[in-house]
Amino acid sequence: MDDVKRTLQIVKRTAESLSSAIDQMVGDLPEETSPQRALELVIAELTTLQPWFLELIFEDHLFKEAYEAARAYAGSPRDALGQPNPELIEALGISQYLANLPNTVPAGSVLVHNHVSPQPVLGSDGFRAWLEPPDATRQVVCDCSWAPDLGTHYRVPGPSQL
Ligand SMILES: [Zn+2]
Repeated sequence: MDDVKRTLQIVKRTAESLSSAIDQMVGDLPEETSPQRALELVIAELTTLQPWFLELIFEDHLFKEAYEAARAYAGSPRDALGQPNPELIEALGISQYLANLPNTVPAGSVLVHNHVSPQPVLGSDGFRAWLEPPDATRQVVCDCSWAPDLGTHYRVPGPSQL
């Protein structure tokens, strides 16, 4: 639980930094510049600076689910992570990420990783893996050589494969 609490503190601080950076940008823009257009350019810049992060935001279904869970959560998103809330953590799917590889893939589940090139340590450099029921619409067989002991694994499809 301490790790969850610490994680949420770091998450909250990071979100607040990003939020105030956006506020500052909007405040600094020349009046004739559209904030939405500027934000589009921020996304383009970030795609170069943090490609893995943008890839997750736009292509990893867990990010869309986190967004939808936060939207659905009563209260403002700013307060949503104020206190560790087991239901929210569950809703955000944080617990779905594997911290360690299982010895075997449980029946009824498949092992899936995100777009990030597999890293030796789960969770490092944006590499995430999880177990979920088979769903051909959002999993493709992955032929990278990660986790060979666990048999066939999947990854989320890229835009060209949807
Ligand atoms: Zn793979």
